[in-house]
Amino acid sequence: MKTWVLFNEKDELLIKHENETYRLPTDNDWNPDNSSVNEQGDSPHHIQKDDWVLRVVDADIPSSFVRSSLRQSWNLLSSDEYLRAGKAWELLYWSEETRFCSRCGKPMNWNSDISLLCSSCGREIWPQLNIAIIVLVQKGHEALLVKAKTFRRDFFGLVAGFVETGESLEECVAREVFEETSLRITNIRYFSSQPWPYPLGLMVGFHADYLSGEIAFADGELKEGHFFRADNLPTIPEGLSMARMLIDDWVAKERKEQE
Ligand SMILES: [Zn+2]
Repeated sequence: MKTWVLFNEKDELLIKHENETYRLPTDNDWNPDNSSVNEQGDSPHHIQKDDWVLRVVDADIPSSFVRSSLRQSWNLLSSDEYLRAGKAWELLYWSEETRFCSRCGKPMNWNSDISLLCSSCGREIWPQLNIAIIVLVQKGHEALLVKAKTFRRDFFGLVAGFVETGESLEECVAREVFEETSLRITNIRYFSSQPWPYPLGLMVGFHADYLSGEIAFADGELKEGHFFRADNLPTIPEGLSMARMLIDDWVAKERKEQE
C-alpha cells in the first residue's frame, strides 16, 4: 500500500483525519484516477519507493482530509510521517527550483530518487542543504536566550546562523555568538541535528560555555538577550525546534542538579 504525500497549490499538506487521529493518506483514502491532479507540465511528480509526491491543483479534497502547513503538521503527524512529508517536500521544492541545467540551460529530469540529470550535457546534481547551527550558551546555572528581530512571535530563542564556506561547524558557532552578542564562548560540544525542510535545511545543535564579554548586539540581528535560570524562563519556542530540544535538555539537567 502506498502512502501519499499530497500538497495543494498553497503548499499545504493534506492529512487524513479519522477517529481523532491524523496521518498521511494511503491508497484507501486517495484515488488519483478520480481527481484532477495536475502534474505540473514538465515538472514531474516524484516517485520514491512506496511514496508519492505530487502537488494537487484544483482537486476536490475529501471531507475527511485537513490542510496543514508542513511545520504545523508536526503537531498532528507521527514523527516518522512528519519527517517523510518533510523529505518529500524538499525534493519537490528542489526539483521545481532546479528545472534547468546551470551549465547549459537545458531541462533537468529525475535520474534517481534523489538526483536530477541534464537532458543535454549529462550534468547530474543532488540537493544542496543549507546548514545552520544553533547553540545554547551556558553561564553557571543560566542560559543565554535571545530575541531576534525576525521572530514573528514574541518569544526567546537561541543564537543561530548559517554556516559559511570555509569554516567548521564549531568555528561557525563561535563566530555567530560573537557577531550577534559580542560574547566569547568555549567548550563547544555537539548535541544533535535535525532536518529543517524550510525549505532545504539541516539544523545542527550545540551546547557551549560562556567565556568572556558583555552582551551587545553588534550586527543588529538581535533585539534582546539575557541569561535566564531554568526555573525562571520566558516564553520559549515550540517543541518541534532544535532550540526547544536544547533548552529542554539543559532544563532537565538543571532540575536533576537541584534534586
Ligand atoms: Zn546541461
